[in-house]
Amino acid sequence: MYPIVRVNKKHLLENIRAVTALCVAKKIAVTGVTKVFGGDPEIAAVYVEGGITRLGDSRVDNLKLLKGLDAEKWLIRPPMMSEVNDLVTYADASLNSELATIQAINDAAIAKGKVHKVILMVDLGDIREGFIDHEELIDVARKTEEMEGVHLYGIGVNLTCFSFIQSDSEKMAALAELSKTVGERIGRELEVVSGGNSATLDLMMKGGVSEGVNNLRLGESLLFGKERANYTFLPGTRKDVFTLECEIVELKEKPSVPWGTVGVDSYGNSPTFTDRGMRLKAICALGKQDFDVETSVPVDENIIILGASSDHLMLDVTDSKRGYKVGETIQLQLGYFSTMRAFTSRYVRKVYMD
Ligand SMILES: *Cc1c(COP(=O)(O)O)cnc(C)c1O
Repeated sequence: MYPIVRVNKKHLLENIRAVTALCVAKKIAVTGVTKVFGGDPEIAAVYVEGGITRLGDSRVDNLKLLKGLDAEKWLIRPPMMSEVNDLVTYADASLNSELATIQAINDAAIAKGKVHKVILMVDLGDIREGFIDHEELIDVARKTEEMEGVHLYGIGVNLTCFSFIQSDSEKMAALAELSKTVGERIGRELEVVSGGNSATLDLMMKGGVSEGVNNLRLGESLLFGKERANYTFLPGTRKDVFTLECEIVELKEKPSVPWGTVGVDSYGNSPTFTDRGMRLKAICALGKQDFDVETSVPVDENIIILGASSDHLMLDVTDSKRGYKVGETIQLQLGYFSTMRAFTSRYVRKVYMD
């Protein structure tokens, strides 16, 4: 039964080895981010096989799935107050920006006889999570240092996720400097200085990441072989780790332009169409619930994606030489958001290839 997402574990392992080697050369350790594939433990195991010793996910539910893997688990989104009990059970560390939450984590950890590691986030311009006021961060660092149930593990920054503010050498220097200041105030060096995500890789390779920054949290680059500053492919990586196979349920010659009175879609937009005459159109049995049009590319280069509704994918297969039939399948190469949806959708079967 389709749709099926196939995971090429061999190619993933190649990506992990290639990207971590680039980081090791710059004395940077990798936290392997698993949220893109819903914390699937079979895929995360490939991270560990590739030498990654820290795993990060934005959901505690996903970290639960990783329980059996021998790696340090990080929650990479500020924890919800309502989940601190599960947090201290399933995560060793978390990224934080609220003192009240750290206090709640401290209480939960003490009650369980544990010590949870805290990484404080600084916002260096992306306007997502983190302290804007460095003095406030230093103050929270001091207070965290005094708590029994939490250990101040380090500081970190996230960039290029909301405002798409790029990582640059000034921002990395500011992060390294802040870590030094915090270290001086608490009288010891911080273990982790986390310089961002796959968007910092390009800068790192150019030597723009300051000494003292010793960690990156990587998802996209490991999975798709891409850094995110210029979206170029990294040397020695593969882009075909995730392939989605879907089945053709209708195949007919149809006009390229619709007929009748045009309304708007559920976002309020009116679609536009180019008249290419009659075309051979395939409908596949999957939709926006299962994948994302913008980050999917047909493996058969002669197929044009026309669009999708929640459960139908419309393709123009006129130029293909394959001669598709109803009941046959079509393959799509998946990028970031498409993979995320495929792994979130319970309608997509997951198959692993060694
Ligand atoms: C998603 C996420 C990452 C990983 O980002 P990639 O671009 O996939 O490398 C790292 N850090 C945080 C805080 C994230 O939310």
